[in-house]
Amino acid sequence: MFFHAHPDDEALLTAGTMAMLAAEGHRVVLVVATAGERGLAEMAPGEELGQARLEELYASAALLGCARVECLGYGDSGLSPKGGIAEERPDNAFIDADTEAAAKALAAILQEEQADLLAIYDPAGGYGHPDHVQVHRVGKRAAKIAGTEIVLEATVNRDPLLWLLRVAGRFYKFPPEFDVRTFESAYSPGEAITHRVNVRRFTRQKRASMAAHASQASGGDSDRTLAVMLKVPRPIYRFVFGTEWYVRRDLPPGTRLTHPFERWPK
Ligand SMILES: [Zn+2]
Repeated sequence: MFFHAHPDDEALLTAGTMAMLAAEGHRVVLVVATAGERGLAEMAPGEELGQARLEELYASAALLGCARVECLGYGDSGLSPKGGIAEERPDNAFIDADTEAAAKALAAILQEEQADLLAIYDPAGGYGHPDHVQVHRVGKRAAKIAGTEIVLEATVNRDPLLWLLRVAGRFYKFPPEFDVRTFESAYSPGEAITHRVNVRRFTRQKRASMAAHASQASGGDSDRTLAVMLKVPRPIYRFVFGTEWYVRRDLPPGTRLTHPFERWPK
């Protein structure tokens, strides 16, 4: 089971692993906490955008071979213009949700599916969206309640990312509000990563999954993450998005695995 905050998060972080596991014959279930109705899109934030994004999620899940998709139905907490917690939030915003109640809802699906594995986010919530941090908290607790043995924290290896940003900074002038240093605490350092999953064989599906999230990938505002990533030429895309990273906290540092179900020590 893969637990994400918003539709399209699955495409960015775990799509290759999901497609790989489905191709191997595993039953893959995708759960999102919110419909992402306050995400940046051409459409105004609101219920209609949420409905459109859920439909994109179903299309993406079908492309990846998912057997089931669920939305927990919390409100998208949104982001403040500066990137932190938005002051104005819907009544049922995911970050204001009772962690225990949300964890129980997720645990019920884990138990129903007799899931062997739950994928969540690292404690930093990746780049720090408050809903992503909440996915970590709720997911961790849900796995405990349901007794799910394997918990993987989907992340990005921060080291090559930082290197890339620093090199890019020599040739490209980032806008003043863009501070490379903020990435020093985003995602996870290479030494903490236990799983490096090679998903190059599934990058076609991963790209199609990203493209399925059209509300996030098209339109005039080409600064959006997905829009930028879909412009990456195919061979480079395969290289950049050909690995997915996870941290499994119950394994010792220095663990290096290549498959979610691989045992350690090997
Ligand atoms: Zn998200």
